[in-house]
Parts: sequence; structure tokens; C-alpha cells
Amino acid sequence: MGKIVGIDLGTTNSVVGVIEAGRPIIIANSEGNRTTPSIVGFTKDKEIVIGDQARRQLVLNPKNTFYNLKRFIGCDWDELDENSISVPYNVKANDSGSIRVLSPFTEREYAPEELVSSIIRKLINDAETYLADTVDSAVITVPAYFNEAQRQATKDAAILAGIKVERILNEPTAAALSYGFEKSSSNNVLVFDLGGGTFDVSLLKISNGVFDVKATCGDTQLGGNNFDSKIVDWLAERFIKKYKIDLRRDRQALQRLTEAAEKAKCELSGLQKTKISLPFITTNDDGPLHIEETIDRKLFESLSQDLLNRLLEPVQIALNDSGWDPEDIDEVVLVGGSTRIPMVQQLVKTLVPKDPCQSVNPDEVVAIGASIQSGIISGDLRDLLLNDVTPLSLGLETIGGIMKVLIPRNTPIPVRQSDVFSTSEANQSSVVVQVRQGERPIASENKSLGKFKLSGIPPAPRGIPQVQVAFDIDANGLLEVSATDRTTGRKQTVTISGGSNLNEQEIKSIIEEAKSKANDDRKKRSVIDRKNNALTLIAQAEKRLRDASLEFGPYGAERQQRAVEVAIQDVEEYIDDDDPQELEISVSSLQEALFGLNRKFAVEKRIESNPLQGIKNTFGSIKDELFSDDYWDEDPWDNEMNSNYRNSRYRNTRDEDPWDNEYFL
Ligand code: ADP
Ligand code: MG
Repeated sequence: MGKIVGIDLGTTNSVVGVIEAGRPIIIANSEGNRTTPSIVGFTKDKEIVIGDQARRQLVLNPKNTFYNLKRFIGCDWDELDENSISVPYNVKANDSGSIRVLSPFTEREYAPEELVSSIIRKLINDAETYLADTVDSAVITVPAYFNEAQRQATKDAAILAGIKVERILNEPTAAALSYGFEKSSSNNVLVFDLGGGTFDVSLLKISNGVFDVKATCGDTQLGGNNFDSKIVDWLAERFIKKYKIDLRRDRQALQRLTEAAEKAKCELSGLQKTKISLPFITTNDDGPLHIEETIDRKLFESLSQDLLNRLLEPVQIALNDSGWDPEDIDEVVLVGGSTRIPMVQQLVKTLVPKDPCQSVNPDEVVAIGASIQSGIISGDLRDLLLNDVTPLSLGLETIGGIMKVLIPRNTPIPVRQSDVFSTSEANQSSVVVQVRQGERPIASENKSLGKFKLSGIPPAPRGIPQVQVAFDIDANGLLEVSATDRTTGRKQTVTISGGSNLNEQEIKSIIEEAKSKANDDRKKRSVIDRKNNALTLIAQAEKRLRDASLEFGPYGAERQQRAVEVAIQDVEEYIDDDDPQELEISVSSLQEALFGLNRKFAVEKRIESNPLQGIKNTFGSIKDELFSDDYWDEDPWDNEMNSNYRNSRYRNTRDEDPWDNEYFL
């Protein structure tokens, strides 16, 4: 069985970790970084680029470079706010109201899950490379405040990446796991997680390895991006005043504005003021126009007042739900890059008068927690118990459009709750169970998670039939709903999957496509690799032939030279062939021929250096030459075969040289 890893699938940055020797560690990606930008793009050649590579093409190729995808995952078009849609790439609703993003280069539209799945795939690939082992499952974190649909869509993204999700874990809970790992004291902890696109707050009681989540709340459409937008808008408005041009309408300008705004925002976390300079941002009749502005912390803070207010409410709701007073909290754990903003830190202090815990790295703590959870699942870690809660109330729509809650928010999971419902009309033969999630009393204002029909109810007066509806939430926070007619025993069950933007058929076909593409890519790459290696070998062989004719004259090592020439011809013949086996055979013949020629060089040198002298010196000189790093470093034939040969023939015998004995005793 392959390994399990822990993944923090962030809106802005993603991180992957694993348990190694009983401790969680972060795995660096193939670029050597510990965090991977959650960005996917396509190049002109329709090649997919992910992470740092995709980030690099953001400004030059804004229409084909997709970020902030997590804000779209599991959402319908009409749930998105203005800020989420104002991205430089094309986002639209398809016929069924699901979100799709468009890539002009590939001429295709993608469900957000599909693009997110390639981020997951990259993290898994990097982990596999590091571990030198296959990874077939993962614990993936989501904002605690993600609803069913968003969780389901995240799971779908993992399925598309070919990964089994062992657990969907709430991000603040993961952070708390990391914070409380190996701590024996008992603590009430507030986790405040403000990332790039989402905000979560959770209250937990941690004692002796038992993690009890008491309450959780948040806002899945609020994060560092919103702070960036405030600066973008400020810059854009000033530009309109000066030049009557709205830069936000120009994709490339918008992307440059956004990057500059984010940079300024981050700088303002350490400095009181900073410069924003964007030369050649656009042109008008007078020529090129530039932005040259200075923004100070005070101005940034005044622009962001409404965002600060949006941070307050979830904290207060979570405190209320937990029944705790701010004084009951022993420790505040800050998570996410945006908690570096000074006004955010101050705000937290006004809510809970404590200095936040400094022992966790806000960028890595969630992935560390996910890795710990993966260790609990794999059995590598013991004596830890996690009791999470459901973030939002779950219920169904009853007559008159009223929401009937079956499982209130912040109920510990796993949980099963049921209630009995009846018909609203005489002789009603079926009931529709419309499952909803949210806190509003009017059902239609809450998120619909899907509906199903239970039919075959025997004729009876209104209110007589008894239909038992049960909600089951598993440890991942995923819901199953069943309805049973008590008279007939007829039962109807659904696992909620309505949240995903993709139906089962679409998921299947994407997986098939990805699989065949992966195979094709692998084949293509290995053909290219083989060909390149063969070309390198030919070039080296030709150089060695030239050396040989200088050294020995055209006929000095005729047999060996000839063998190399013939072998080169063979390789050349098969290099463009599709048959990998023929090429492989010819390449190894060339290696062998070169090895023969190489030996010839060595022997010639021996004779040349001392034709009549003692054999010891002769062999000594060969050996010295063979042991000298220079010799083998420049030696193109130092392939595996040669080095094996070298090791067995020379290196192992270096200390007590049998040749010495043979010839001199
Ligand atoms: P996510 O969990 O959404 O992937 P992260 O926790 O990686 O996000 O945080 C990314 C956000 O943090 C971005 O909006 C980024 O601009 C912001 N950020 C990072 N460093 C700083 C900083 N020094 N000051 C202010 N914001 C920062
Ligand atoms: Mg995060």
C-alpha cells in the first residue's frame, strides 16, 4: 500500500506533508519550495503549468492562468460575490448554473474541480518523488465553514487526481492538531485563520491528546484577496480621476494592479508606507501612462474598515455557540498569511486579550495538522483523538418553505439525527425531501444540497402517514440522508453530491482523459529522453573517435574504432524509430564498443608511458589513472556498467592489490 500524505489545499498556496519517523514534516516541491501557489495555467502549446511556473505567467498570460479557484469550488454561479468574479480570466455559468472557467489556448472550459485536481496531482507527484514511494491517499483540509457542496467538490477534485480521500479535515482543526501535538496540558484554544480567500474561526478544547471542537464559524468569501482589491480599487479610482480610464477593464493592467496591490499590502505589514510604481500601465492619445503612488498604513486601514467588521461577527458567533467567555481562552493560534496584517492582529487582541501563540508557522501549520491526521489514520501516530463539529445547520424544507433543522450547527460529528414528517394533503402518494444547509429560517435562503422523492405512500388522510427522515454525518462532515415510510417500510437514501459542479459521467470522462493523457505524456517523455540520451552518447562517441585517430592514427585501434563506428550507425538508424527495444539494444552495443575503445586508450597509455619497465609501474599507472577522479569525470562511458566494472575490478582491491602479489612475490 502506498503512503498517506496531508494536504493543505489553500486558496492561494498549497502545502503537502507526511509523517516521517513519527513526526510531521513538510515536503518541498520540485522547485524546492515548501509552499506551492494554487495556480494552474495553460501555455500557448496547450501545456499545463502548475504552481510557481503558472504564477510566472500570470501577468503575460492572464486569460489562461487561473487562481483563487477554491472560491469557486462547490459553488453555484449565483452564490458568488462581485469580488470573486472580478478575475482577469473568463468565468461563466453553464446551462445548469455551474461555474466554468475558460481557457482560450486550449479552447476548453473547465470545472473548478478539474483545475484544482491538477494542483493536487502536482503535490502528490512531488511527495512521491521525495518519498520514493507511491502515494495513493490523502487527508485534505478545507475551511471549517465549507458547506456540504464545497466539501463534496473538494473530494471530487481529489478523485479526479486519482487519489483516495481518507479524510476531509477542517483547517482550523488541523492547525489545532499541530499546535496541540505533543502538548500534555489542557487548553482552550481559539484558532483564527485568515488566508488568501477564506476566513475561519474555531474554538477547541485540547487535553491530553483529545481535541474537542466546541464551535466554528467563518466566511468562505473573505480573505487577503479582499484587502488587495481595496488597494486595486483605490489605485483604479485615482487613475480614473486623472485620466478617465478604468484600468480594471484591461486584463493585463488589472493583473499588474492586483500584484502590485498585494505586494504593497504585504510591505505595509512591516513598514508604515510604501511606493507603488507601475510604469507603462496603459496609453492614451498623449502616449504611455504610468502609476506612481505612495500608500501608508493608515490609508490602507481606512480603506479596509468594512473587511475588519466582517471578521468580527464570526468570532462572536463562535464564542456564543461555545458558551465560552473571551477570558476562558488560554491560547490564540493565528493561521494564514493574512494574519500578518497588523490591524488584523490588533483586532484579534481586542476580542481576546492574549498575545497569540508564536510557536506555529502560519503558512505550514495546517499541512502539519493534516499530516498528523494522516499519521493517526495510518497508525503511525497513536493516542490522539479528534472530535469535530458540523459548521452549519442541516435540515429540510417543510411546507410553506420553512426550514426544519435536524442537526444544528456545531453538533459533534459523526452524528445521526432523525425526525418524523407527514403529508400535507389527503391521499398524497409521495413526499419530496429537499435537503438544505444554513442558518436562515426561510428554507430557500439556505444552500440546497439536493432533493429526492419518496413515493408509493398508501392513500391516507393528511397528516396520517409517517415518514421518518434521518441525517447521517460521517467523520468527514459528509452527509447521507434517508427517508422511510413507516407503513410500507419503503426506504430511499441519498448521499449528497449535488454540491459538485460535475455529474458522475463528467467525472468519469475527465478521469479517463487524464489517465490516457498521463500515459501518453509518460510515453512521449520516455521517447524524448531515450532519444536525447542516444544523441548525447553519439556525440561523445564521435569525440572519442576523433581522440582515437589523433592518438593512435586511423588504424591504431582499428578493431575498436570500427566497432564504435558501426555501433553509431546502428543507433542512428533506430533513433527515430518507434521501436524502443531496438534503440535500447543499439545504445548498449555502442556503450560496449566505447568501453572497448576506452580500454584501448588505457592500455596504450600504459605501454607508452613505460614500455620496458617493471610491470608494477605499468599497472600502477593504469590504476592511478583509473582512480583519478579527473579521468572518470570526463569519461562519458562512466555509465552504470563501467562503474560496476570499476568497482569490482579496481576499487575493491585498491587496499591490498592482488596484482602486486601476482607479479611481485
Ligand atoms: P490560503 O490558505 O488561502 O492559501 P495563505 O495562508 O497562504 O492563504 O495566505 C495567503 C494570503 O496571505 C495572501 O492574500 C497574501 O497576500 C497574504 N499575506 C502573505 N504574507 C503577508 C504579509 N506579510 N502581510 C499581509 N498579508 C500577507
Ligand atoms: Mg490556508
